[in-house]
Amino acid sequence: MRVIAIDGPSGSGKTTVSRAVAARLDAGHLDTGAMYRSVALSVLKRGVDPEDQHTVARVALEVTIDVGEEKVVVDGEDATAHIRGDDVTRAVSAVASNPAVREEMVRRQREWAAARDVGVVEGRDIGTVVFPDAELKVYLVAGDAVRARRRSTETGGVEGTVAADMARRDELDSTRAASPLKAADDAVVLDTSDLTVDQVVEEVLRNLNP
Ligand code: C5P
Repeated sequence: MRVIAIDGPSGSGKTTVSRAVAARLDAGHLDTGAMYRSVALSVLKRGVDPEDQHTVARVALEVTIDVGEEKVVVDGEDATAHIRGDDVTRAVSAVASNPAVREEMVRRQREWAAARDVGVVEGRDIGTVVFPDAELKVYLVAGDAVRARRRSTETGGVEGTVAADMARRDELDSTRAASPLKAADDAVVLDTSDLTVDQVVEEVLRNLNP
């Protein structure tokens, strides 16, 4: 099992870059943000309060999640679009700060990697917590305005609203006690603000084969 960990805040380019790197290496790709979003969706669908730690932890153990390249299936239903909705985006930080939820998701992420030869795994804590021995750790950053522009283009949201939402999530993700968003000490930090996707991908691959 070889793991390439790609972490960073929202809008830093993780998904686009991870997919492209995985395609170049003929590797699997896992979007762990989609897993936390899937738990949040299941929590909302069951009418559970995202702040109710005990019940949310139970949902995390029960929910079935299949994160594929084309679609995400949660509890047997296609949830590809719904996990990107405003309701899930609002609830996901509370769900992801729950240590019991993280424990279960990390277990599933390690299981996913153990079943593969090579995997590109993207998230917030992949290099720091999930795969501290990853072959390569990349931490992507980008300026706030660039990130907000990318996200609003992706989601069709108003740029100002997207920027405020991103700032709120970044703050919650960086300051939580359980596995906060931060670069691993041995991560390669790449600022993607002024780079094309191809340039970032080349840089990642160059670090893989120094
Ligand atoms: O990457 P994405 O924006 O879809 O992630 C949604 C949320 O899931 C993040 O804001 C964060 O709270 C959580 N997350 C996490 N750990 C990861 C991936 C995502 O806590 N490895």
